[in-house]
Amino acid sequence: MKKITKIGVFTSGGDAPGMNAAIRAVVRTAKYNDLDVTGIYRGYEGMIEGDFVEMNRRSVSSIIQKGGTILKSARCLEFRTPEGRAKAFENLKAQGIDALVAIGGDGTFTGAEILSKEYDIPVMCIPGTIDNDLYGSDYTLGYDTANNTVIEAIDKIRDTASSHNRVFFIEVMGRDSGCIALNAGVAGGAEAILLPEVETGIDQLLEEIGFAEERKKTSMIVIIAEGDKNGGAYNISKQVKEKFPHLDVKVSILGHLQRGGSPSSFDRVLATRMGYTAVNELLKGNSRATVGLRGNQMITTPLEEALSKKEFKLDEELLEIANVMNK
Ligand code: ATP
Repeated sequence: MKKITKIGVFTSGGDAPGMNAAIRAVVRTAKYNDLDVTGIYRGYEGMIEGDFVEMNRRSVSSIIQKGGTILKSARCLEFRTPEGRAKAFENLKAQGIDALVAIGGDGTFTGAEILSKEYDIPVMCIPGTIDNDLYGSDYTLGYDTANNTVIEAIDKIRDTASSHNRVFFIEVMGRDSGCIALNAGVAGGAEAILLPEVETGIDQLLEEIGFAEERKKTSMIVIIAEGDKNGGAYNISKQVKEKFPHLDVKVSILGHLQRGGSPSSFDRVLATRMGYTAVNELLKGNSRATVGLRGNQMITTPLEEALSKKEFKLDEELLEIANVMNK
């Protein structure tokens, strides 16, 4: 095994709260072990363009509380080509970078695995995405913060919903994953929750709204994950309005505000543990793996396994509890 002397760290794909805390932990753990650290701006794009910055303990001062990523993020088509990756590796070599820590989602992991195999450079990945949809960790960075953001929005919308006797359809992020919708829906006391993983036909929703009407509920919150199969919040609200014309129906799409904000305590600690573990695993000779949290223990999973397996992250018991709460 070649001795590691300089680690390159970067963030890539969609940003998530907690990425800065992870960068900080990577830099500080590396410096603690007398390694040099280079920050790579804009993920694989910056790697191809040689957009690098030397980092030390001070370069990551006062970033643990900040959302977004100080190293910026990007999606880079050129890195999907062998020529693009050759340019990226030449730049890494010229810089003396002999190992990488990649923070991002499954696309980022795929790119890291391919580069590592082609050029025999060690990589460790950190799962950073608000969707909580990666195999190998109970929680991804940013998920907890996004849930808190959504709950805050639900609480505020509920104030206006109950003042005006309105039915609100709130669409939250999650193209393939209903984790935010379910968790924030339960925490926000939503009357109904629609998820990509669970078929809830529009008829079932109409029945639930009718049932709530019978119970003389004057306002309602329905949470819809963006990947729900009924065609999104606007479409659903239209169908509800047709069936219940007397209802005052409103739609709120929360959108990108769910990606931002100061990371929660949970995400800051998770990011710090993950950054620390990623560097220590590299030093132990581990590579082509992702770090993760399982039952409050830090673990690693080979990228090959993490990328080929799908994990059903929806808590089935919570799903059942949500149904009971709404009956
Ligand atoms: P999110 O979950 O937020 O979408 P992500 O990491 O999955 O994050 P992607 O845009 O899918 O985001 O991937 C980030 C970058 O990783 C891509 O822009 C591309 O540069 C690189 N990448 C993705 N897939 C591949 C691939 N098959 N080969 C090489 N590079 C890839």
